[in-house]
Amino acid sequence: MRYLIISDLHSNLESLSAALEYRDYDAALVLGDIVGYGANPNEVTEIVRDLGALLIIRGNHDRVAAGLDQGELFSQAAYLAAMWTRQMLTPENRLWLQRLPIGPADLNGQLTIAHGSPLDEDEYLFDPAEARPQFSAFSTPICFVGHTHIPGIFALGKDGEIAFEQPRASDSFDLDLSRYRFLINPGSVGQPRDGDPRGSFAVYDTARSQIEFHRYPYAVEVAQRKIMDAGLPPFLARRLAAGR
Ligand code: ZN
Repeated sequence: MRYLIISDLHSNLESLSAALEYRDYDAALVLGDIVGYGANPNEVTEIVRDLGALLIIRGNHDRVAAGLDQGELFSQAAYLAAMWTRQMLTPENRLWLQRLPIGPADLNGQLTIAHGSPLDEDEYLFDPAEARPQFSAFSTPICFVGHTHIPGIFALGKDGEIAFEQPRASDSFDLDLSRYRFLINPGSVGQPRDGDPRGSFAVYDTARSQIEFHRYPYAVEVAQRKIMDAGLPPFLARRLAAGR
């Protein structure tokens, strides 16, 4: 099986459309934050609804935009965008987002997905110290997480050491499942933050035990113009070009 793993789409229709030109996968897994920040919440939600994904969980932005949480902990820009999104969502899309399950979710004991971390959907995993306690919160060999918008792999060895690797652009890694367990972030489709403005997703090939990170260009300036035209915070447009 080849699983397409997408996260943090953030209402970015241009980037999601470019990502889905990639077809070499059998099933999709969606790690949440389908909406928030960008200007096309309904279009992006509808594409995800039609994707027939094997597993989908919500993210913190979906929770706030769907009205399940008031977003008190959000930054100003995130809050304004979430409230704008809440107003824009059709009743059907809002209900669909409200009903998304909270991670972690497990696929046949083979892999787990979570938004922030398996312990907490709002938690950011940036370094090995933050990753360490997570490994006892899931039982599968691999857990995929999003939320930081930064692609990377945490590998816990049998000796208890945790290594962290970041892909350089498009890159693939062999996963030695007999010696390591993994927490893997596919990066963000809709708002990359690792200094590379290109969109990011991952493909997990179970037959090869390989993870592929894919970076792809998309029409950043179109997504930016829509954010400005919608009256969303200009910072949200600027950061797309910077990839930060
Ligand atoms: Zn996000």
